[in-house]
Amino acid sequence: MHFEPTRAAGLARLSDFLPRAGRDYANSRNYDDGVPEDGARRNVSQLSPWLHAGLIDEGEVLDAVLAEHSPRTAEKFISEVFWRIYFKGYLEQRPGIWRGFCEQRDRSIGELDDNAGLRRAYEEATGGRTGIEAFDHWARELVETGYLHNHARMWFASIWIFTLKLDWTLGADFFLRHLMDGDAASNTLSWRWVGGLHTTGKTYLARESNIARYTANMTAGPLEAQGLASEAPALSEGEEYGRQGLALPDRPARDAFDAPYALILHDEAASHVPLALPRPPDLVIGAPRPEARSSREIGSHARAFARGAVENGLAEAADTFGCERRMWEMSDDLSNQLAAAGLKRIAIPFLPTGWIRDALMPELAPIFEQGDAIDLLGDLDRATWPHAKAGFFGVKKKIEGVLAEVGITG
Ligand SMILES: Cc1cc2nc3c(=O)[nH]c(=O)nc-3n(C[C@H](O)[C@H](O)[C@H](O)COP(=O)(O)OP(=O)(O)OC[C@H]3O[C@@H](n4cnc5c(N)ncnc54)[C@H](O)[C@@H]3O)c2cc1C
Repeated sequence: MHFEPTRAAGLARLSDFLPRAGRDYANSRNYDDGVPEDGARRNVSQLSPWLHAGLIDEGEVLDAVLAEHSPRTAEKFISEVFWRIYFKGYLEQRPGIWRGFCEQRDRSIGELDDNAGLRRAYEEATGGRTGIEAFDHWARELVETGYLHNHARMWFASIWIFTLKLDWTLGADFFLRHLMDGDAASNTLSWRWVGGLHTTGKTYLARESNIARYTANMTAGPLEAQGLASEAPALSEGEEYGRQGLALPDRPARDAFDAPYALILHDEAASHVPLALPRPPDLVIGAPRPEARSSREIGSHARAFARGAVENGLAEAADTFGCERRMWEMSDDLSNQLAAAGLKRIAIPFLPTGWIRDALMPELAPIFEQGDAIDLLGDLDRATWPHAKAGFFGVKKKIEGVLAEVGITG
C-alpha cells in the first residue's frame, strides 16, 4: 500500500477497512502476516499514520465504525483507538516522562560515540544484523516501510531490552525516527510498558513459540527467533514521575474567531477539517517539524509523510477558505510572517507533550502570553484525558459514557 499523506487517502483506507473492523479484527489482529504485495494488510487498519498526522481524527473513525458495527462487535477496535487517546492524556499529566526520555536518550546517544562495543551492538540491531531472524526482519521492515505491526513492535522492543540488553530509549528513538506514526505518547509509553516502567512490575517477554505462531502466515513461513532471553526483569529508574493536574485550554468562545486570524497546521494536526472552525481563517500556515523528533537522522518515510501531510493539508485549507498560505520552517521567524500579513491572532490545534510542542512553543509562547492564541482541543480528548490518570482500565470503563457525551453514536 502506498501511504499517501492526504486526508482523502486516509478516508479511503478507513472505508476499505470498515467491514473488517468488527469480529474479523478481534480474531485476527494479533497476526503479523508480513507486507502483502500491494502493501495493504487486511487484519489491521494501518490508519495510524493518518491519525497521528491529524489528517483524520479518532472521532470520525469511531463514528464510521459504529455506523457499521454494534459497540459490542467492534469493542476491540474501539478500545485500541482509545489506547491512543489514553496514552496522550497520560503523558499530558506526566510531561516529566517525556523530558526524562529525551535526557536519557541524549546521554545514550553520546555513549554510542564513546563506546565502540556499544556502538557495534546498536548498529547491528538497527541494521538488522543480530542473527535473530525475526528481529532482523522487523528492523529492516521498519526502515524500508515506515510501519510495523503492533505485535512486531512488542516483540522487537522486548528483544531489544531483554535479549540484546540495549538501552530502551535508543530503541524508542529508532522507532520515532522511522515510524510514520511515530508518536511521543504511544511510542514512549509503549516502550516503558514493555520494559516494566509503565505498569509497575509488569513486563512483556517475547517468546520464540509465540512469534512462530503469530507469523505463521508469512509467505516464507514463520519467523525464527532463537536464543531469546527467558526472563524479563522489570527495568528501574531513579525518577518518580508524579501526576500533575491537567491544564486544558478553555473551549474558545465563538467570538474568539471574530478578529482576523492565521490558522497553524502542524505534524499532529495537518487537516483543518476535524477542527470544524466556526469562521474561516485569513491565512493558513504550515509548520512541519519531523526533524525535531531526534538529533539523529529521521527516516525517509517518516519525514516524507509528516511533511507531505502538512503541505497537502495547507493546500486544501487555502483552497477551501480561499486564503493565502505560507510555510513556517524552522529557520523562519513567525512574527515576521504574521506582521507581513497584518495579523496578530493565531488559532492552533493543541500542541501535545512531545517534540512538536518542544519545537513550536518557544516561538508561540509570547503570542499565548498576549492572549492572541486560540488553542483548539478536540472534544474526544477533552472528555477522555481526565480519566487517563493511571492504568488504561480507568479509560476503558468510561468509553461508553465518553462516546455518548461527545455524540459519537455511529
Ligand atoms: C513498542 C511500541 C511502540 C509503539 N509506537 C507507536 C507510535 O509511535 N505511534 C502509534 O500510533 N502507535 C504506536 N504503537 C501502538 C500500535 O502498535 C500502533 O498504533 C498500531 O500498530 C498501528 O497500526 P494500525 O493503525 O494498523 O492499528 P490498528 O490495530 O488498526 O488500530 C487502530 C488504531 O488504534 C490505535 N492503536 C492501536 N493499538 C494501539 C496501541 N497499542 N497503543 C496506542 N494506540 C493504538 C492506533 O491509532 C491505530 O491506528 C506502539 C506500540 C508498541 C508496542
